[in-house]
Amino acid sequence: MPKTYEITSLAPESTQALAEKLGALLPRGALLTLEGDLGSGKTTFSQGLARGLAVPEAYYVTSPTFAIINEYPARVPFYHMDFYRLNAPGELEDLGFYDILRDKGVVVIEWAAKFAPVFAEMTRLEIRFEDLGGDLRKILLIPYGQVYENLIHEVVRMK
Ligand code: ADP
Ligand code: MG
Repeated sequence: MPKTYEITSLAPESTQALAEKLGALLPRGALLTLEGDLGSGKTTFSQGLARGLAVPEAYYVTSPTFAIINEYPARVPFYHMDFYRLNAPGELEDLGFYDILRDKGVVVIEWAAKFAPVFAEMTRLEIRFEDLGGDLRKILLIPYGQVYENLIHEVVRMK
């Protein structure tokens, strides 16, 4: 397990501010896997990322639970996914998931841990959200790959 970085968020706006900084730095082909229970902040975080990626303000980033994959134009294409309603990793092929990975946009996946073996070998940034009650959230950043380790250092420096 790589070194993890823990951040405490006291409000949705600070979760989004953190995500916005990260979004501004994400390179083409970046992969973020988000984990945490319902209501822990994955979609809220993704909204901040969208701002950092320069998704036009006219787009409102909503939960992709039902669409499964939402695509937004941005600095690089932003693919926002949610595996909550998927049942088997085999469904990913039909959804065009592997084509999207090759497309070199930024891919963010809520409930990615459902199909953990799919991501086992992939360079990515895992982000775990934990609801500690009220507006308090623990956010763990876990970089799988040097690129993401460096990104985290940059984001923390921007604070
Ligand atoms: P998920 O996508 O993980 O199910 P959402 O982002 O949809 O979670 O919902 C998180 C909810 O928790 C939102 O209503 C948000 O306003 C609220 N919230 C309260 N405090 C925080 C915080 N510090 N960070 C993120 N969300 C928070
Ligand atoms: Mg969500």
